[in-house]
Amino acid sequence: MKRIGVITSGGDAPGMNAAIRAVVRTARMRGIDVIGFYHGYSGIIDNEIVELTYKDVGGIMERGGTILRSSRCEEFKTTHGRELAMKNLRENGIDALVVIGGEGSLTGAMLLEEEFNLPVVGIPATIDNDINATDMCIGVDTCLNTVVEATQKLKDTASSHERAFIVEVMGRKSGYIALMSGIAIGAEAVVIPEVPVDYGALADRILEARKRGKINCIIMVAEGAASAYTVARHLEHRIGYETRITILGHIQRGGSPTAFDRILASRMGYEAVSALLSGKHNIMIGLQRGKMAHVPLEEALSKKKPLDMSYYEMSLLLS
Ligand code: ADP
Repeated sequence: MKRIGVITSGGDAPGMNAAIRAVVRTARMRGIDVIGFYHGYSGIIDNEIVELTYKDVGGIMERGGTILRSSRCEEFKTTHGRELAMKNLRENGIDALVVIGGEGSLTGAMLLEEEFNLPVVGIPATIDNDINATDMCIGVDTCLNTVVEATQKLKDTASSHERAFIVEVMGRKSGYIALMSGIAIGAEAVVIPEVPVDYGALADRILEARKRGKINCIIMVAEGAASAYTVARHLEHRIGYETRITILGHIQRGGSPTAFDRILASRMGYEAVSALLSGKHNIMIGLQRGKMAHVPLEEALSKKKPLDMSYYEMSLLLS
């Protein structure tokens, strides 16, 4: 193996840069060249290449986003698009490709291996934490910390003015961010796609907490479950609090990665190149019980990781 390619693809996630750095440095220290393609799969099709040396990835670990930029590429979903991509990969002498991204990006990687026998390794990076067979994806921890920090500030005002804050967070299909940040913040309730919302029961819960002396109310809402405005409309006349709505939006994806994400991304990048060098490919690097795992891409993509509902039960008890 002489030369590997690397891309970041799909939704960006904090820690992607730390993964690029680890891939580049691990490879270069072992005498392998690294070519980065800008903008994910569309950069492979358009041949937007950059050679990455040891020095090129200095000072990027602490930066949010991705220096290789990212995009969504519809063309790559077609056989013709993948043929074009493969032609460029061959012409650039790429022996293997490391793909850093979410479920869609890893699916694309698996197709490259299946259709063209290109050795690929995937690194799971998505704030949704919905990828099977890895306990954590790169970016999740930073996202949660951002949500907790922002919501903590809202909680101060909620207490001062005895208000309810309805905080909408990302998660179109998964309630992971809403639930986990809700636990970390002590939210009164979480509204997530995995659980049908019962506004009557929710209002009763909030009223009971108020009777127990609670002077604020934070409700975390995953965008895929309901809009914060809908939740407010259903609750404000029933709960006796003035309500305020905050939609955190894209601040959740940005920012300097936490130590956890930097370390996870470093381990995964290092492991991805080490796996390729030992002849392993068509895999995703996962975190399982604290250790790096080689998960066949097919297994990683066989289903979405379901939300662990024991956390939901716990959140109801603790808030
Ligand atoms: P994420 O990787 O964050 O899940 P997307 O689902 O948007 O984000 O996927 C990112 C890119 O990966 C897509 O724009 C496309 O280029 C590629 N991709 C996604 N799904 C497939 C698929 N089924 N077949 C081939 N390529 C895919």
